[in-house]
Amino acid sequence: MLMVTDRRTDIGPPDYKKFMPPIIKNNYGKWKYHEVLKPGVMVHVGESGDKLFTVRAASPRLLSIKKLRIFADLADKYCGGYLRFTSRNNVEFLLTDQANVDPLIADLKAIGHPVGGIANAISNIVHTQGWVHCHSSATDASGVVKCVMDELCEYFTSTKLPGKLRIALACCLNMCGAVHCSDIAILGVHRRPPKVDHDSINKVCEIPNVVASCPTAAIRPATVNGKPSVEVDEERCMFCANCFSVCPSMTLNDPLNDGVSIWVGGKVSNARTEPMFSKLAIPYLPNNPPRWPEVVEAVRNIVEVWAKGAHKYERMGEFIARIGWPRFFKLTGIEFGKEHIDDFKHAGLTYKRSAQLRH
Ligand code: SF4
Ligand code: SF4
Repeated sequence: MLMVTDRRTDIGPPDYKKFMPPIIKNNYGKWKYHEVLKPGVMVHVGESGDKLFTVRAASPRLLSIKKLRIFADLADKYCGGYLRFTSRNNVEFLLTDQANVDPLIADLKAIGHPVGGIANAISNIVHTQGWVHCHSSATDASGVVKCVMDELCEYFTSTKLPGKLRIALACCLNMCGAVHCSDIAILGVHRRPPKVDHDSINKVCEIPNVVASCPTAAIRPATVNGKPSVEVDEERCMFCANCFSVCPSMTLNDPLNDGVSIWVGGKVSNARTEPMFSKLAIPYLPNNPPRWPEVVEAVRNIVEVWAKGAHKYERMGEFIARIGWPRFFKLTGIEFGKEHIDDFKHAGLTYKRSAQLRH
């Protein structure tokens, strides 16, 4: 039996240098420039003259051990056993021999992994757990991502777009990941207030914590059937599910009313313009598994309006700032409604305060 004294703790991750290909170790901090040779393929050239070829392939993020072993076999075959994953969960193979690039791409294609996602492309969709693993999702993650990327794959494997376009998905508005700061964001939403389980709440939740979790102060302590519980002012509730995050007795999941909202115009980089939050474009689309046609169509439409109208390198948020929101709604055909108008705390800052209106 393992004794407490045998436990190894606080050892941290292994040193990253252990996993570096020799060419990266030798040129560390001494790279001169890089070029995109073709979709999904880059070369980095070091001061020493060394050349590192990178082949970036799509990955669904949710991977089996079997698939990881297949990736490892490819890394053994072409890359001296080294590979890495990017911050958008693509897999990158690092080669020193340019002659191996095309055979590797052919092997990846044979196992269903397109190569691309570099430069003016739609790279992988940063996404969450969905119905695979999380208790608070209002939509699925892997399913929606697969459907959207099937539709947009031509933009992953080419560089024909005006600039980068980042898509992210989160299955509830805890927003694990990048939905708040992406060019296009797909976000699961509820549309009904929580149903309070008065019998269990006092046993499994800390009531002051539940009350404090609500951003609109819709929850009050109450005595129900002689037991401590809470009551929800449904007029004040905007279905965020934060109370459910802290208390399993406040369920909101509702298959008929849960769905997806679409947000646009966020970015993280400070190239040209400062980072931006994404903003609401479509308040609600239904969950329609397994292919989510309404969501796929909405995303494709927004991508195409941007691709047609954006200047070179102009991100979605920059494009909308230039043409104005009324024109964005007109070009996309998205109906503007009361849900688009901010009504939370400092909402006034988002209202138009000048007479200038672009159409
Ligand atoms: S976004 Fe919400 S539902 Fe999705 S993984 Fe995060 S907490 Fe869970
Ligand atoms: S869902 Fe959100 S707004 Fe509604 S009661 Fe719970 S915490 Fe408050």
